[in-house]
Amino acid sequence: MSAPLLRCHGVSVEYGHGDARVVALREVEMTIEPGERLALVGRSGSGKTTLLHVIGGLVSPTDGIVEWKGEPLSTLDVAARGRARAAGIGFVFQGSNLFPHLSAFENLAFAARASRNDRPGPGPSDLLALVGLAGKADSLPGELSGGEGQRVAIARALAQRPELLLCDEPTGHLDSDTGERVLDLIDSLQSQFGFSLVTATHDPDVAARSTREVELEDGSIVREGTFA
Ligand code: ADP
Ligand code: MG
Repeated sequence: MSAPLLRCHGVSVEYGHGDARVVALREVEMTIEPGERLALVGRSGSGKTTLLHVIGGLVSPTDGIVEWKGEPLSTLDVAARGRARAAGIGFVFQGSNLFPHLSAFENLAFAARASRNDRPGPGPSDLLALVGLAGKADSLPGELSGGEGQRVAIARALAQRPELLLCDEPTGHLDSDTGERVLDLIDSLQSQFGFSLVTATHDPDVAARSTREVELEDGSIVREGTFA
């Protein structure tokens, strides 16, 4: 068996101090395997977003380690962690989080340049075509619908040619039909490019698309399941 892409070992995260102290994650043990489709489920406040941010190197654990291909991500300094993230890990947030003053094409081109990896993959124009938005290359994010903005955000994450795509409630701001189409798109791109996919969601229909599920409750993993 190959090594996991990512491993969390004894990962705890605390926010704040004293009376304001919140334990968001408690000694989380988890691996992410190459090419797998993992759903992170749990109620609001259970720690899903915090775990995604720790996995992606946006938040450093208070305790424990995060290893990216056997290297400790969480002990790198901010700049080195940023480089590791840009080279291998793509994010899709609940809102599209695009740069508002850059066109759709420029948002993708910026991400592609920042990633500085030499893996082969489609360029910005091809990616916009893949998500059905070739005609919106010059549009600013404010000129796009919610579903279009989210498709651009997905294309932008793929412009980094990620090995791991992290999605945080990716359809949370979309109506159910648009959400279905966005999820279909993510799934088909994953089949095509083979990155590992981790989706945080409180929606059982979204989680049902995964091959493995990890449930968080109050910052602890309380259940894990694998699906056929
Ligand atoms: P979820 O994504 O499952 O809703 P979060 O990871 O956002 O859960 O939150 C987990 C816990 O950590 C919650 O109690 C939340 O209020 C708290 N929390 C999240 N982010 C912060 C922050 N930046 N500062 C303080 N507390 C936070
Ligand atoms: Mg969340």
